[in-house]
Amino acid sequence: GVFGISNMDDFDTAQITYFGLYALQHRGQESCGIAISKNGEITGHKGIGLVPEVFSEKILDRLEGNVAIGHTRYSTTGGSSVENCQPLIFTYKGGKMALAHNGNLINASKIRYELEDKGAIFQTSTDSEVIANLISRNGLKCSDLVEVLTKTMEVIEGAYALVILAKNTLVGIRDPWGMRPLCLGKIGNSYVLASENCAFDVIGAEFIRDIDPGEIVLIEGGSITSIKSKFNKPHRFCIFEHIYFARPDSSIDGASIYRSRLEAGKLLAIESPVEADMVVGVPDSGITAAIGYSRQSGIPYGEALIKNRYVGRTFIQPTQQLRERSVGIKLNALREEIEGKRIIIIDDSIVRGTTSYKIIQMLKNAGAKEVHMRISSPPVLNPCYFGIDISSKEHLIAANYSIEEIRKSINADTLAFLSVESLLKTPIGAPVNCFCTGCFTGEYPMKVPMHLGKDILEKNC
Ligand code: AMP
Repeated sequence: GVFGISNMDDFDTAQITYFGLYALQHRGQESCGIAISKNGEITGHKGIGLVPEVFSEKILDRLEGNVAIGHTRYSTTGGSSVENCQPLIFTYKGGKMALAHNGNLINASKIRYELEDKGAIFQTSTDSEVIANLISRNGLKCSDLVEVLTKTMEVIEGAYALVILAKNTLVGIRDPWGMRPLCLGKIGNSYVLASENCAFDVIGAEFIRDIDPGEIVLIEGGSITSIKSKFNKPHRFCIFEHIYFARPDSSIDGASIYRSRLEAGKLLAIESPVEADMVVGVPDSGITAAIGYSRQSGIPYGEALIKNRYVGRTFIQPTQQLRERSVGIKLNALREEIEGKRIIIIDDSIVRGTTSYKIIQMLKNAGAKEVHMRISSPPVLNPCYFGIDISSKEHLIAANYSIEEIRKSINADTLAFLSVESLLKTPIGAPVNCFCTGCFTGEYPMKVPMHLGKDILEKNC
């Protein structure tokens, strides 16, 4: 998740950034950081952990300035080590700069090898440092910031929502396909940028608009300049943000995430009905779709799984062993609600199959008579190369087994997924045909280099 503020009021810049990042915690839980500019001098603080773990009141007090950017990270390129935390702060010919990136470049390793051949040194294993390096190189040839950024955008390929701090200027950039989200808001006379507008509600800012695909915005001294780049491509926003990743209280590119999930549940009930006594959502990501399913089918919604609210997202634990253990730590079954009932359990997705198996086992152990699993997205058949942690085909249960085989392996009485056609109807209000559905269909907006699947596999091992 990324956040930025150009403070023209009396706000505490670091504190607003902190609260903005707190609201974006769901986008990354491995590490976080803030970079802040005071009269063009950039300092910062970052570390491994959740936002409130990394930032104490004392640290925030030390972060003085009027322009800031922040980042919450979970890794899709580069490990979760401390040197890979963002924002990256670097010095180039134009001075100091800080950069925070959400997304994944597909040509980062190629550019990196080329730069290393020319003597470049890298301190992290992130694709984001490749962007920093290109900015630095382009800065040697010209001093105009927009030109430097435009030249950089000419070279990088993939998904990127960037916030950059260049002296006193706050910059926001969304990749030409608009794959990852970035939006603009205002609080008092101050502009803010964030991955999702739920961050604006938290700090009391008003949502102005989404940054367009390929757009660069420069914010300084209370004014904003927009450069609509020449690299505009057909809009291809990540549909998985609607299914799982974004917060339900956000709206992206005109479509409410909550309404998408509700609609997915309704369409799932129409496509795959089954007789049962109770509809249950897997907390938290399956709950909205389960409410939609219940409303459409008329089968009552009930609580059968209780979540330990102090445990975060299980999937974001980087190893399989940790993931398996953490489902049980996070969820427990409510025998009083379950015993003797036919249950429809809804989750937003099955990726490796770890979660579904554990949950069905829990429900059956608590006395469920039947467990019917319904998934509010299609089977995940392909990796994501653009910033969602969906790794190589080898790990994707639906890429290796039929739906009937998956049903047996997770021990469900029936299993059904939402169709791609219905899924595409769920983001109500979004431009038609504007989604990347690569993880379901294998149709990516751009050609993916062959070696990338291997990289992702290595990282996840
Ligand atoms: P799995 O156990 O591997 O089948 O993962 C599915 C569960 O993880 C579902 O409950 C989802 O809500 C969640 N999930 C799916 N994809 C992701 C992702 N890329 N990052 C984090 N969590 C995810």
